[in-house]
Formats: sequence, structure tokens, C-alpha cells
Amino acid sequence: MSDNTEKTEKIGKPTLPEHVRLRFCPSPTGIPHVGMIHTALYNWAEARHAGGTLIFRMEDTDSKRDTQESLDMIIEALHWMGIDWDEGIGKGPDEMYFQSKRADVYAKVAQQLLDAGYAYESYSTAEEIAARNKAAGRPETFGYDGYDRTLSEEEKEKFRAEGRKPALRLKMPDEDITWNDLVRGEITFKAGSVPDYVIVRPNGEALYTLTNPIDDAITEVNVVLRGEDLLPSTPRQIVLYRYLIELGIAKQTPLFGHLPYVMGEGNKKLSKRDPQSNLFLLRDQGFIREGLLNYLALLGWSFSATEDVFSMEQFTNAFDVRDVKSNPAHFDLKKAIAINAAHIRMLEPEDFLRRSVPYLFKDGAVSADNWDALTDREKTILIQSAPLVQTRVRLLSEVTNMVAPLLSIDEYIAPADDAKKQLKDDSAEVLDKAIAALSTLSDDEWKTDQIHELLSEELVEKAGYKPRNAFGPVRVAMSGHRVSPPLFESMEIIGKTISMARLANLRANL
Ligand code: GLU
Repeated sequence: MSDNTEKTEKIGKPTLPEHVRLRFCPSPTGIPHVGMIHTALYNWAEARHAGGTLIFRMEDTDSKRDTQESLDMIIEALHWMGIDWDEGIGKGPDEMYFQSKRADVYAKVAQQLLDAGYAYESYSTAEEIAARNKAAGRPETFGYDGYDRTLSEEEKEKFRAEGRKPALRLKMPDEDITWNDLVRGEITFKAGSVPDYVIVRPNGEALYTLTNPIDDAITEVNVVLRGEDLLPSTPRQIVLYRYLIELGIAKQTPLFGHLPYVMGEGNKKLSKRDPQSNLFLLRDQGFIREGLLNYLALLGWSFSATEDVFSMEQFTNAFDVRDVKSNPAHFDLKKAIAINAAHIRMLEPEDFLRRSVPYLFKDGAVSADNWDALTDREKTILIQSAPLVQTRVRLLSEVTNMVAPLLSIDEYIAPADDAKKQLKDDSAEVLDKAIAALSTLSDDEWKTDQIHELLSEELVEKAGYKPRNAFGPVRVAMSGHRVSPPLFESMEIIGKTISMARLANLRANL
């Protein structure tokens, strides 16, 4: 593990401010997806690593696409993941952290930009811009041509008289824009490659390109970590910052770090439609927060050359955004599951059981969705089962198959398809011998070791069956499956009466 606990210099990368102020500012459209949470996680980790501040605000300026449901889900996702914040939603006035409530702030700054000559009224329609580009032999992708920069007052008056309303565009200077990206190093956009861009729509709506830097400026954000899809907007924001500094609205231009895409199967960006991009589906599948956070942390960053399972504390101690790799990271479900399994094994047994209960309830294996409301019998059996199960599941959703036969009072469990193959010609004989042997044990003697010894002696040593053939049918009788938690421990938990009944009933059904 590298020692990043101090603010070390990173060759070629900027020095981080003494007190970092970062923000996570999603738009509430759709489900919380893995890419979004990955961004939140890295901002949080950088803030925690450096003892800085994380701000959480909502960029809800698109009333057509924003939903309350999405907002609630994002907050639930952060809570579930244990990503906390220091300033922002719930920790200050909504007028500060919901962009939908800040139209007057943006309008005021837009006016200041206009008055100072940093922005100008633009009356050109998309069709007019396209027609001018065509006439001048420029490609369509050229975009806006700066036409309205030099409109005279009379020309503007004429447009207004026609009933046209202007958009506001920001003036881009005729020079290269360069910054030293925290992830990617130096990036330059050549002079003329970024057209003057719209900051306020003709209907008066301020756009993301304006609202995002204004809020960052007002809350004194000094490190911006966000997805690489936003990289094209960065030169514009850097120019806007210059103007905001001139106007006394911003203190500084933040440092920018553009985080790698999270890729799915093949070479495609993980899309919102991929089931494995949906955080809540992953939770439903039985990921625990520690496992998923650990895995997400590894998408673009590594903890050490030899170790990829770590706690959140180890993660925040070690993380430095300047170590993040710029190449796209692939979401590998198999690896994610393996890491989750490691974290499940590290849980305290009681914690493991408490977290498993909602999954057991959903599958109909227990009577309530939380530990405290379970019956005493359920609690006793689960406590006995925990050591058998916790090391054998990779996802919490796998607990049901393991413990359902232990919880069930059914006297017959029909063999599942995988278990039928385990039943051979001699299975009836094996079961007869097992029943005869086990019936000699008293209730008090019905213990793991005694059951094990007796069955080994009678079926393997005396009758000469291979252990697999001897114990296979017994396992199927107990669990209905070919694979189950350890057999003899399971039989002790199931108890003598039900175990004997299951053996007899499987025998009768062969
Ligand atoms: N609201 C923007 C988004 O969800 C965030 C942009 C940023 O982090 O600068 O993409």
C-alpha cells in the first residue's frame, strides 16, 4: 500500500489545495446507476482522505426529466452505501442546494455577465446557423459561428420587433485553453475549437453550463471530479470562471479531474439499461455495501499490487485522485461477486444474519422482514446456521437455498433436478441402512459428531459405500439439493424427528 496519508506531490499532477472542497451534484433523472455512484464514491473518498468537505446538491433544472422518485432513490443509494456529506441537501436551506429553487441567482449573474460584455444576446436560430455554415462551406458540426457577437443595437431592436427572444451566449476568447487534469494530466483545447455557447435559453432558463459553475463558485468548490463525458464542457467552464472571478463571484478556478467511464460487457459504456448498472438491482441480488463499494473503488484505481479486498477506512486512507487511471474501467460481475463474498465472510455473524433476513423473507423462508420480529425458533436455527452458511455464500440472496431446509418443518423435501442425479440404484439400500443406524441414537445423542461417526461406520466402513454414494442420498433427503451446508451439522439443526421423517419419505418416494 502506498503511503498517501500526507499531501504528497505527484509527478506532473497539480498540488491539491490545503482544504479540499468537493461536490457531488447529480441530476435526478432515472435510477441511481453504477457510474453515478462511482463518481460520488471518488468525491467522497477524496474528501475523507484529505479531511476536506463534500457538498451534495441537486442539479434539477430540467423539469421535464427530473423526478422526485429519482431524487429519493439517489438519497437512499447514498445512505445505503454509507456515502455521507458535510454540506448540502438536508444540511442547509433547500434554496442553496436545489438548482430548481435558484433561478433568481442565475438570472442575476447572467445579467452581470451581459452588462460586463462577457456574454451577449444571440438571436440566431438553429436553422439560420446551419444555413450560414452551409453557405460558407463549413461542416455542419462547426456549430455556432459567432454571428451575433457584433450585432448593432438597431439590428437587435429589429429582431425584438419581430418578436424574437435572445439566448445568452458566453464569449470564448481566441486562444488555447489548457488545464492540468488531476487524472489525465495536461489537456489543451485549441483556440477556435469551442464556439460561444448558450448559457441562458431564449425562454430565460439558465443552462447547466451556467448553473453548475455558479454554484461551485458560490460554495467555493476547489476540486471538481466528474465523469469524462463532461470533459468537452470544461474549457467553457474555465472561461466562465475567469469572468466570474472578474465579477467577484468566484474566488478561483477549481482543479478538474475527469474520471474514467465504467464499461460493461464488450467495449460498450455501461448503459443505464444494463441490469448490472442499477445499484438497487445489485442490492437485490445480494451485494452488501462493503463489497460493492470495494469493487466500485477498484474501477479505475488500485489499492495495492497484491491486495484488492479492503475496508472503507483503508480505502479512504489510501485514495488519491491523482492515482486514478484514465483508461476505461470494466465492470466485471464475477470479480464483483468474489469481492462481495470476501466481505460477507468478514461480517460479524449477527450482522450477517440481520442483513440476510430481508432476503429470506422475500423468498418466503422466514415470517418477518427484520430480525427482531422473527420467532424464537427461527432465530435459534439461524444462529446455529450462520457459521455453516456465511462462508459459503457470495451474495445474500444465496442464503435462502442454504437455510430454507434447516428452517423448514416439512417432513419431505422433493429432490430438485440437480439432486436427482445424485440418487443411484443403491440409494434405497443406503437410506434403509442410514435409517436403521440413526434410529439407535437418542434425542440427546443427536449431535453432529455422533451422527457423523455412526453414518461413517455403518455406511462406509461396514457396508463399503464410497462416501459420496453413502452421504449423497442423505444430503438430498435433508435439503432436496446436491449441495448444501455441511450435512451432519445440518442434521443436528434440523433435529431427529424431522431428519428421520425426511429420510423415510425420500426412501418411500424413490
Ligand atoms: N449534473 C451533472 C450530471 O449529472 C454533474 C456535472 C458535474 O459534475 O459537473 O452529469
